[in-house]
Amino acid sequence: MSDTFTFDAKTEASQPKCIVSEYNPKVSYHFNEEAIPYHFGSHHPMKPFRLMLTDNLVLNYGLQDHMDWYKPRPATKEESLEFHNEDYIDFLQKVTPTTLQNFPDAIQKFNIGDDCPIFDGLYRYASICAGASLDASRKIANKQSEIAINWSGGLHHAKKFEASGFCYINDIVLSIMNLLRTHPRVLYVDIDVHHGDGVQEAFYLSDRVMTLSFHKYDGYYFPATGKLDEVGAEEGKHYALNVPLEDGITDEQYTGLYKSVLSQVLNKFQPSAIVLQCGADSLGGDRLGVFNLNIKAHAECVKFTKSFGIPMMVLGGGGYTPRNVSRLWTYETAVCVGGELNPDLPKNIPFYDYFGPDYSLLPKLDGKVENKNTRAYLENTHASLMERLRYLDSAPSVEFQIIPPDLEGKNEDTEKALQDAAEDSMI
Ligand SMILES: [Zn+2]
Repeated sequence: MSDTFTFDAKTEASQPKCIVSEYNPKVSYHFNEEAIPYHFGSHHPMKPFRLMLTDNLVLNYGLQDHMDWYKPRPATKEESLEFHNEDYIDFLQKVTPTTLQNFPDAIQKFNIGDDCPIFDGLYRYASICAGASLDASRKIANKQSEIAINWSGGLHHAKKFEASGFCYINDIVLSIMNLLRTHPRVLYVDIDVHHGDGVQEAFYLSDRVMTLSFHKYDGYYFPATGKLDEVGAEEGKHYALNVPLEDGITDEQYTGLYKSVLSQVLNKFQPSAIVLQCGADSLGGDRLGVFNLNIKAHAECVKFTKSFGIPMMVLGGGGYTPRNVSRLWTYETAVCVGGELNPDLPKNIPFYDYFGPDYSLLPKLDGKVENKNTRAYLENTHASLMERLRYLDSAPSVEFQIIPPDLEGKNEDTEKALQDAAEDSMI
């Protein structure tokens, strides 16, 4: 829009902000805004504030009109214990910044420290994020949604026994376990700049979950795992696939590799559901990231994955330059609903000044890091990946185990506990 022509407020309000132009699956959005006010500490790179920026943009573009909108409850303790160890969850539930000194062994045992600090309301925050992913997984499992989005989830580093990399409760593992009640095979795809180690580890021995992670790897960059040789073990051998990348990968290199590898994985593994972790720290200019991706290239991965028409959970993850995180996840929400967005940001959004000087949904983010991915390196990596995929039998003959579904998300005990808690809070 030129400087000499601006809409008046009434005209602007009547302009469609999201134009949906293609066939679209049924999409749901799972977000509990109670996750926003929590604070890891003023110097900590993880800012739950990014979720508010995202929510504001999604709403101001009118994307809520194209999705089912849910405010999920936090995960219950019982739900977190489906994956995590009881000692660890007990600790998260009890500890506060002032009582941490009463747990002398815990700092080492549960990996508490600068990356994973104890802050006020930590357990509540982690349970809210996990609850939203569980809600999304239930909507996929019972076919109410074909794509279910939770930008507060995707916390891929959390381990069974400990916190790791700003992650405490692994919402992804819990959700995949839920999907396995109704889906014989689930594919997990991770495009965060960091390796999806917590999810890979949880399903390393399983042939019902294949994990595919694209990430920076040099043996040192956090979490220092995710090399080509990590392929799974026992029943799960060949069902983990890692794409180690160097600094500065470009849009064309990344999307080319992604499309080629994903097509082959889908062809060989034939999943009935996909969980896509869309960490935004793989964008150029991220505070912790080292890649050169623009928003459209990152979102191209979402669009390509969606194009296969397989039910899909779309989750957040890392992302440490909040204005770009919110731009990306808004754009990817539009991709999920098949919408086109005006790249000029709506002027009435809170924190509009934050998006200067371009005030665009799609700022230029590439070219900031030297590209160390040579053509030869990527071709060799691609060849190694194709070689590994050759070991994978087409459509593994997994016996479909019937596990009683918990599609309402509650059993009788949980229902009673939730009712009691609701009554308590009304007093
Ligand atoms: Zn990350």
